[in-house]
Amino acid sequence: MANHAGRHFLQIPGPTPVPERVHNAMARSMMDHRGPAFCEFGQKLFADVKGIFKTQQPVIIFPSSGTGSWEAALTNTLSPGDHVLVMETGQFAVLWTKMAERMGLKPEVIANDWRSGADANALEARLRADSSQQIKAVCVVQNETSTGARTHIDEIRKAMDAAGHSALLMVDTISSLAAMDYRHDEWGVDITISGSQKGLMLPPGLSFTAVSQKALAASKKATLARAYFSWDDMLAINGSGTFPYTPPIGLLFGLAETITMLNEEGLSNVFARHERLAEATRRAVKAWGLEVWCQDARAYSPVVTAVEMPEGHNSDAFRKIVLENFNMSLGTGLSKLAGKAFRIAHLGYTNELTIMGALAGVEMGLELARVPHNKGGVSAAMAYLAQAASPATAQA
Ligand code: PLP
Repeated sequence: MANHAGRHFLQIPGPTPVPERVHNAMARSMMDHRGPAFCEFGQKLFADVKGIFKTQQPVIIFPSSGTGSWEAALTNTLSPGDHVLVMETGQFAVLWTKMAERMGLKPEVIANDWRSGADANALEARLRADSSQQIKAVCVVQNETSTGARTHIDEIRKAMDAAGHSALLMVDTISSLAAMDYRHDEWGVDITISGSQKGLMLPPGLSFTAVSQKALAASKKATLARAYFSWDDMLAINGSGTFPYTPPIGLLFGLAETITMLNEEGLSNVFARHERLAEATRRAVKAWGLEVWCQDARAYSPVVTAVEMPEGHNSDAFRKIVLENFNMSLGTGLSKLAGKAFRIAHLGYTNELTIMGALAGVEMGLELARVPHNKGGVSAAMAYLAQAASPATAQA
């Protein structure tokens, strides 16, 4: 039987490890979700969550995984037959496209090679060609979790402005919120979608939708059917700190705690920590002589690194060896990457030593699985992290 002493290394890009402080916060007794204590708590929570999105606009919280907020974004702002433009970046962009089809929308895809972020120039060209403004929404994933490629959302906004196009900008930050820089208001995003189980360090079960005034105006005219995921029902009652139906109270207690933790560390420090751990991971991969799946250095993800398996080796067989021998879960290759790549997440409640443990597990696994590689990935990552430690910390 495998040795499962010590803690499991959950190095997948969500769900991510939940901090003990958050477990404790969620363990509180239930309360009356329409009573004064909950309403006071809820009002503060709805105000505080805005800071994570960098918005002054409402943030709606649904009891669902992130996919629920995708659905809400489409059904609340669009009408049957509306054209939407999806920037393909990987599997999650594909799933969003499929959902749009199921909703009776007409999605069009700007294809990409799944090894880079979305192409803002291609977007601008397509929108310029849409002189009658048929396209009602542009959908982009900020961090494509399946490939480890990021898209620069400020550049997407600039492309839309340069084309003079009025489509709504919808951004999926499900695996990037609270892990990499995000500015809903400053970047002029109309709908930002997120989920609880990644950068927010919570269990799955909450999804988030930050909206703009333009998105709210669109929701008044849109005719797709919506019921449980109605923004209006939420917004009508969120102001008093509660929900139109029974909220997931425990998860909301946890959310209040993770917001406190993120603010204690400071969001910019949280983002810098993710960048540091990602860089250490890529240095290890390169020292092993393996390929980072993302081929564009500007698009390297601070959240997850997908690693290409050498020809003739299966990434899932390798992941199985790592799990059985070292009690670590690595991310599987999704869709086109199945069997061809594994993913190392450096997301959420993770630090220098946890990523070093994970990289040691990968290096030992490569040896056990007889995957051709050079030694020294762990040392390369360690050298980088030691040098990246701030001088003040190094002297202390
Ligand atoms: N979008 C991205 C970028 C994701 O990473 C995920 C999940 O991993 C989803 C959408 C789907 O979210 P959920 O599984 O929370 O419904």
